[in-house]
Amino acid sequence: MTILSAASTGDHVVASRSLYGDTHLLLKRELPRLGIATTLVDPHDAHAWAAAVTPRTRVVLIEMPTNPTLRLFDLGPPRRAARSVGAILAADMTFATPINLRAAEHGVDAVIHSATKYLGGHSDLIAGVVAGSAKLVAGVAEMVKLYGASLDPQTAWLLERGVRTLPARMERHNASALALARWFRTVPGVRRVLHPGLPDHPDHALASSMMSGYGGMVSIVLEGGTEAADRFCRNLRLAAAAPSLGGVETLVSQPRHTSHSDLSAEELEAAGIEPGFVRISVGLEEIRDLQADFAAAASAAATPPP
Ligand SMILES: *Cc1c(COP(=O)(O)O)cnc(C)c1O
Repeated sequence: MTILSAASTGDHVVASRSLYGDTHLLLKRELPRLGIATTLVDPHDAHAWAAAVTPRTRVVLIEMPTNPTLRLFDLGPPRRAARSVGAILAADMTFATPINLRAAEHGVDAVIHSATKYLGGHSDLIAGVVAGSAKLVAGVAEMVKLYGASLDPQTAWLLERGVRTLPARMERHNASALALARWFRTVPGVRRVLHPGLPDHPDHALASSMMSGYGGMVSIVLEGGTEAADRFCRNLRLAAAAPSLGGVETLVSQPRHTSHSDLSAEELEAAGIEPGFVRISVGLEEIRDLQADFAAAASAAATPPP
């Protein structure tokens, strides 16, 4: 809706290559039907943004931290590229939440959230949020009305209830995810742990300067590759192997089966999704219970069936 309110036939969108799967489809398959073209850029290449914008670029779109490798990048280059041609900078901040990263303070014009995730927080609604100037939001609201993306009253009520506890939930998500990330490094069979709060994460310094919490997502890579990851997910008892994220319950998913199922083995590797990659949305459960569950699943993952 943000893109449709800002761009028309003949216009252009520049977007990060690292996007939620259906956002990618929207840009590459749906918008071209309306005559809106998209150029995708490597978000970590600071020069790529300025090179990609044209006088017809109406929107520069980013997403941060990225799924599922939880990378961050400097918002200066996409912001300056957008400003240079009079485009808006739009940012999907679902993984960051407004508690951990206040994108408007970094010059983002349209702050976008899947409220289905942390804002609702209970995995019982589907909704989206766009925040920005009154003028921008009025334009988006008009598109929402025309295309039918309006919330029903029950969902709006559930979302309002969820948002009331967002700060308290995020405090716990942040603390539990960081504690689990540190602990996972001691678990046999876990080869790699990705979390922006770990000092060896490539964007740890940037995350520390931009975010007030590192978020509730942790990714791990299991020794034993894809079969080990399948066994790990099958052997969980407390955490559920299911898509989505940001709810009170811990959810575990393998990007190669879900968000990145269209990618070839080479493309997965290039996106940093090694064999054995598992993404974890850390919920609000007792951390010792989660550790017991993950330790048992990792042990089962390390033991191939006879
Ligand atoms: C889930 C998700 C979406 C899509 O949101 P829905 O509410 O499921 O339509 C978009 N962006 C990101 C980063 C997401 O995680």
